[in-house]
Amino acid sequence: MNAHPKMPNSHSQALAKRAGQVIPGGVNSATRRLARPYSWDWAEGAYIRDVDGNTYLDYHAAFGPILLGHNHPGVNAAVAEALHGVDMVGVGVTEAEIRLAEKVVEHVPSAEMALTFSSGSEATYMAVRLARGVTGRSKLIKFQGTFHGWHDYLLMNIISSPEKIGQKDPGSAGQLQDAIDNTIVVRFNDLDAVEAAIAAHPGEIAAIFLEAIPHNIGCVLPRQDFVEGLRRLCDEHGIVLVFDEVITGFRHGLGGYQAKLGVKPDLTTMAKAIANGYPCAVVAGRRDLMMQFSTAPGGKVFVGGTYNGHPVGTAAALATIAALEDGSVYERTFRLGERMRTGLQEIADRLGIAMISAGYGSVFTPYFMDGTVERYEDLLRNDTARDVGFRSAMIEHGIFMLPLAIKRNHISAAHSEADVERTLDVAETVLKTMR
Ligand code: PMP
Repeated sequence: MNAHPKMPNSHSQALAKRAGQVIPGGVNSATRRLARPYSWDWAEGAYIRDVDGNTYLDYHAAFGPILLGHNHPGVNAAVAEALHGVDMVGVGVTEAEIRLAEKVVEHVPSAEMALTFSSGSEATYMAVRLARGVTGRSKLIKFQGTFHGWHDYLLMNIISSPEKIGQKDPGSAGQLQDAIDNTIVVRFNDLDAVEAAIAAHPGEIAAIFLEAIPHNIGCVLPRQDFVEGLRRLCDEHGIVLVFDEVITGFRHGLGGYQAKLGVKPDLTTMAKAIANGYPCAVVAGRRDLMMQFSTAPGGKVFVGGTYNGHPVGTAAALATIAALEDGSVYERTFRLGERMRTGLQEIADRLGIAMISAGYGSVFTPYFMDGTVERYEDLLRNDTARDVGFRSAMIEHGIFMLPLAIKRNHISAAHSEADVERTLDVAETVLKTMR
């Protein structure tokens, strides 16, 4: 199906057909399958091009990793350089791995030690196991609307339909019932609900998992008193507080969103923007907890992984962090993000369109609704058809925003002022047709 008649996509369609013969659904991750098939052959800076020659200004950023811009020369050079030395031996440690852990400890306020993995899901999985291992407890608390990766433990109640809210809403067939039973889902930004959940399961909660900003539903900011309350409750009840900063880590500052909140979790998971598109993820946190991983002598919480600390991801992360350290990327992307958010809001208000221009830093998400957003439940008022319609029309004008409702958009250091102004001009043209 060609959802955008003005843009050719016969080559993408042919590849999708071929892919479908040998790859289930023709894609390697579920959310990559869209109504219109895409295949890409070039990406640089803020731009991506499909195999039919359509070039787009990219705000999808590969679900978030691309913070410096696509194909960043410094990061690519560091990766190439890393491969001139040793590829992988798989015992001991490389100096690059040490430097990466040192950088995480230097920048992330709660990080005293760090372990490196390849993906965010591995990091959150290991944080779950560590929390259970050190507390001897089984239950986890997560919030409605948050996503923490593909494993059984936390894959539930993300984009729930209204009738599923307040119930267990598992994300996949084949999930272990025990994992579902042991995960308690609570309303976001509702400290009383967290307190009630803890009281209902005295001495049983191992960890509370918080997406530092729930960006898997766009951008819903945590209230400061909510996060401080979580910290207090975890201290009172011996619960491990985990900030999942897989999206927010390094994107919202070298110290992640915890630096802005001024609240220290016990463990933090990071991935995506730490390595600008290369596979790298980190679990970092309190020394006494981290020393319980079996990489340390006497540590009882098993951790392994052939590709942990892989030279490619590690070199990419070191080069990415080096490019972020003078702060100019944050100054620029936050400024452009602010311009985008206020610009979109101003256009919608002027045209009388119900829209909330949400976001933080380099992230922006227009919700097609009135009022305020404090939690996932509020987003049930979002007009999905208008949201997806807006995004699809933007794509037709050469501006790529994932054509799914309540998904976040990302600005990179490669986006220019002119790119943002052009985006706002196109948005105005599109929104005018939606009055
Ligand atoms: N946590 C959060 C907050 C995420 O957004 C994601 C991925 N979107 C993950 C964990 C899982 O990361 P990965 O896809 O690298 O396994």
